[in-house]
Amino acid sequence: MLDFLGNLQRTHMCGALRASDARSSIVLMGWVNRRRDLGNLIFIDLRDRTGITQVVITADAGAELHKKAESLRSEFVIAVVGHVKLRDPKTINPNIPTGEIEVVADELRLLNDSKPLPFSPADNEIANEEVRLKYRYLDLRRPEMHNNIVLRHEVTIAIRDYLNSQGFFEIETPILTRSTPEGARDYLVPSRVHNGKFYALPQSPQQFKQILMISGFDKYFQIARCFRDEDQRADRQLEFTQIDLEMSYARPDAVFAVVEGFLTAAWKTIGVELQTPFPRMTYDEAICLYGIDKPDLRLPAMSDVRTAFAPEQLATLNIDPELPVVAIVTPKVGELSRKERDDLKLLFGDRKDAKVFEDIKRLEKSFPEVVSKIREIAKPSDGDLLVIVAGARRAEVGSAAKTRQEAQAVSAAAGQFRLALGQKFAAKHGAFGQRDFRFLWVTDFPMFEWDETENRWNAAHHPFTSPHEEDMPILESDPGAARSLAYDVVLNGTELGSGSIRIHRQDIQSIIFKALGMSPEEQQARFGYFLEALQYGTPPHGGIALGLDRIVMILAGASSLREVIPFPKTAKAIDMMMDAPTPVSDKQLKELGIAVVSKKDL
Ligand code: ASP
Repeated sequence: MLDFLGNLQRTHMCGALRASDARSSIVLMGWVNRRRDLGNLIFIDLRDRTGITQVVITADAGAELHKKAESLRSEFVIAVVGHVKLRDPKTINPNIPTGEIEVVADELRLLNDSKPLPFSPADNEIANEEVRLKYRYLDLRRPEMHNNIVLRHEVTIAIRDYLNSQGFFEIETPILTRSTPEGARDYLVPSRVHNGKFYALPQSPQQFKQILMISGFDKYFQIARCFRDEDQRADRQLEFTQIDLEMSYARPDAVFAVVEGFLTAAWKTIGVELQTPFPRMTYDEAICLYGIDKPDLRLPAMSDVRTAFAPEQLATLNIDPELPVVAIVTPKVGELSRKERDDLKLLFGDRKDAKVFEDIKRLEKSFPEVVSKIREIAKPSDGDLLVIVAGARRAEVGSAAKTRQEAQAVSAAAGQFRLALGQKFAAKHGAFGQRDFRFLWVTDFPMFEWDETENRWNAAHHPFTSPHEEDMPILESDPGAARSLAYDVVLNGTELGSGSIRIHRQDIQSIIFKALGMSPEEQQARFGYFLEALQYGTPPHGGIALGLDRIVMILAGASSLREVIPFPKTAKAIDMMMDAPTPVSDKQLKELGIAVVSKKDL
């Protein structure tokens, strides 16, 4: 039989009781975490969001109370009226903050019972993630998940407070909007009022925030929900949250300072003081030194060792003299067996464009002076693993642009290998320790990327990104070499956010649309409103957006975004708890003027 709460008021939280509360009369409310029945004595671990307190029901509490306590099961909701007692020194539990006390119950009220549980929130590890997601409300009761969501709250508030203190306005932008070119597939929402027309859910508030600059809100931010219909990965969700901001008259330095400020505030929530300003590196440097645009600085950079080889030595070794030759140092790997070395070759993979020299000693036998020069440049310490990656000699040498692409591919292969080695020997070098946060700005990204399948140039960031002023003259003649004023903030090999200084002039925006292969008619159809807005005194502006989910995931030390999003979707884009997506009624479809046909009939 369930009891009513009546006018009973909760007086304390379970996790907050301490020895100094001894003798207080209290009222606690919460879930039965566990019950231990020793016959005369019944112990209940009572749990609320703050922690656990042990409640004791003694034999002299009376038969009725005892009987009620016997009936309690996991996750029943109860109120306990009682008093706090110091535990006998022998029974103190040093593992929990409330371990010095217990609550002796004078009265119990059973406020609700619970069906048998698919899993217990009291368990630390629950193997099946689908079951966790289906019963997310139970999963979120677990202290670990609870802490993640609390951390998310604290981080969000810290960021908001910081931006507010810097004079930013928090402004909401629409969720039902128009398809925008952020590069991913849009989620479409059919219009009932305008059958055959669709809203799109925003991939980001990009155009709205630029328009807010035109409107004079010279510092905007939003903790903005964004939607991209992409295939899922551990670190990607189709619905995610960005810390989105935009500033008028800003140069990259101004944006960097704001981001460094709010990241410092966010990291403070886990007690870590960040060093600012973050180091900076251009995209070209990042590719040369790390073979990737999001370098992980926790391992040494690669070094260019081409000069260690004489031209005839490059020829003997079948190395292309115009492509990169880089040394990769992985610290503290120690001696490797023959078999382990062969495994490195497999790890590098079989490539036509690049080759690896994984056995430096062998190379040293034939080319002692080369290897000695390489050691001088790359400076490995004793016990470090030194390997060389080089571009394989090309059958034919094409244009400068082609060579640039081939060189980047070799650097990228080396960069991937560097990371693979870093992962493989993580236990040996120990550089991936939890609390080493190596932030970095990567600047001067290329303006365009060549799209092999579509055979055209795409915007590397998005089409509103300003070209580098110095590279305006080569936008049309050598688009592949043109740099933009785009930047990324990177942490330990993960991109946390991207942004750019924008195009604020209609004439330049038109040139960029044209370079992206858009005819004047298409420009008008897709962006007419925006091109028009740019013509009414648009101030120069720039901004950035950072993934909040990813930041919280890193701060929580979690392995997936799903651990820090209250109600995430699965890898198959399903909300297990609500069971979405679902079919809808014929009536709903009819109102929208939509008939569902199977894809193969299209
Ligand atoms: N809107 C951009 C994005 O979501 C970020 C920015 O340029 O501010 O990637």
